[in-house]
Amino acid sequence: ALQIAREAAQVPAVTTDGVQINCLANIGNIDEARIAAANGAEGVGLFRTEFMFLETKEAPSEEMQFNEYSDINHVLAGKTLVIRTLDAGGDKKIPYITQMHEENPMLGVRGVRLCLANRELFKTQLRAILKTKAENIKVMIPMISKLTEYRAVKQIFEEIKADLGINTQIQLGIMVEVPSVAFISEAFAKEVDFMSIGTNDLTQYVMAVDREHTELAKEVDHLHPAVLAAIAATSIGAAKHDTNLSVCGLMASEKLAIPVLIGLGIKNLSMTVSTIPENKAFIRNLNYAKCKEVAEHCLSLPTAIEVREYLKSQFN
Ligand code: PEP
Ligand code: MG
Repeated sequence: ALQIAREAAQVPAVTTDGVQINCLANIGNIDEARIAAANGAEGVGLFRTEFMFLETKEAPSEEMQFNEYSDINHVLAGKTLVIRTLDAGGDKKIPYITQMHEENPMLGVRGVRLCLANRELFKTQLRAILKTKAENIKVMIPMISKLTEYRAVKQIFEEIKADLGINTQIQLGIMVEVPSVAFISEAFAKEVDFMSIGTNDLTQYVMAVDREHTELAKEVDHLHPAVLAAIAATSIGAAKHDTNLSVCGLMASEKLAIPVLIGLGIKNLSMTVSTIPENKAFIRNLNYAKCKEVAEHCLSLPTAIEVREYLKSQFN
């Protein structure tokens, strides 16, 4: 039965009315890359590189990183591999990276802000990625909140390419996890190579609830209509420039949320590795036209509770 399930998982997930939804994997290490491949992932939509940095006493060397990226890429055999650059700070403290005390770390020097403040560390990572020269690899920048940050990163990226004499077309994209980006997604879509919505942080920032908060976190819901509106706005902006858009937050792993995401125009879902076979099977029974109607209705509801009740009535 497992063999049959695994074979079925390798088949693409196409809706009953013929729309293909690419199911990719979120991974943190090479073991998960192997499971992703076995589970029928169409690639890796999010490789969280911060775990590499959390496991070591000092920053992993360029060579160590190059080997790690190359090994994971080898496992994926040419399929898409989106490598997210170091997403530290906030709740992910890394002792050897200088960190000032912050009253509100989630609103502090995290993600790309930390990388731009630690240029050499950032450049080492970008060099390690670029040296793979693999065109199926894409570089994704976390916690972007304004275009000037993206442009600064792009300049560093191009300088390194020139230094290394590399002219491969490795794409440079961003995570959409700060509401400012969702609001002006069209402007971003015009400049970046791809965008991926991180619904975990996007929800935290739309709702102003710390995602790690011991009491409040359980009430924060990525199916809140305001979060859906932010996703809808991003989707519309991306479509204006045909910019590849995916969702890589936990929302893309949740069955109830998947029809809404598809209905909002998301064609690439990057999910927890273990959920891929089941979610692909679920998507094969969905109708794209219905998903669009469902998403439209969800956007008109006033609370997350009502969105969930409605979705349960439609898909059970
Ligand atoms: C997100 O914020 O949704 C995301 C995918 O990134 P992380 O959970 O690693 O912050
Ligand atoms: Mg995030």
